Amino acid sequence: MIAESSHRHISPFLEEVIESAPGGERIVHCLQCGSCGGSCPSGADMEYTPRGVFAMIAANQRDRVLKANTMWCCVSCYFCTTRCPQNIPITEIMYALKRISIAEGIAKSGDGPALARTFTSMVEKFGRSFEFGLASTYYFFNKPTAMLKMGPMGLSMLSRGRLSLIPKKIRQVGQLQAIIKKAKEIGGVS
Ligand code: SF4
Ligand code: SF4
Repeated sequence: MIAESSHRHISPFLEEVIESAPGGERIVHCLQCGSCGGSCPSGADMEYTPRGVFAMIAANQRDRVLKANTMWCCVSCYFCTTRCPQNIPITEIMYALKRISIAEGIAKSGDGPALARTFTSMVEKFGRSFEFGLASTYYFFNKPTAMLKMGPMGLSMLSRGRLSLIPKKIRQVGQLQAIIKKAKEIGGVS
């Protein structure tokens, strides 16, 4: 399966990540140069930057990786992926770690998983993100106190026309919902 690196020891967790992330086998080529963390806008909030995560994956530290907040801080900007000298698909690997964490039931708490669940439900319903609904639902169910503090900013955005109170569905959202339903069936997600 991993012809170019068959001489290397592959940890069971790395095998699992490779199964879940196209190009994930390139983790074995990580130079630990730190360019990924240095270019990451969320690096300061991460318990471990991608560089550290990849070292832990290689060392089979599965629990430590899946319980970390790293992938939940990832905003999929692809800065790291474009800067990685080894062409490691870092962003895709972050997605893979989210999927594994959710499938294992590890991602039950914390800001990242809660926000991801709220975002996904909006996309399933409307075919696109709905910022007002996303923020209000997330804060109401997860951080009701913080919601009060967000009020002035929300009003300011409203007054400048930067926020819509009414969700707009994409055309033929039913087709997208059917695709999502099928994908969930294939992936064994309820
Ligand atoms: S930029 Fe690429 S090679 Fe460098 S530490 Fe990050 S993943 Fe490894
Ligand atoms: S894609 Fe994710 S990990 Fe990479 S730089 Fe952007 S936020 Fe950081």
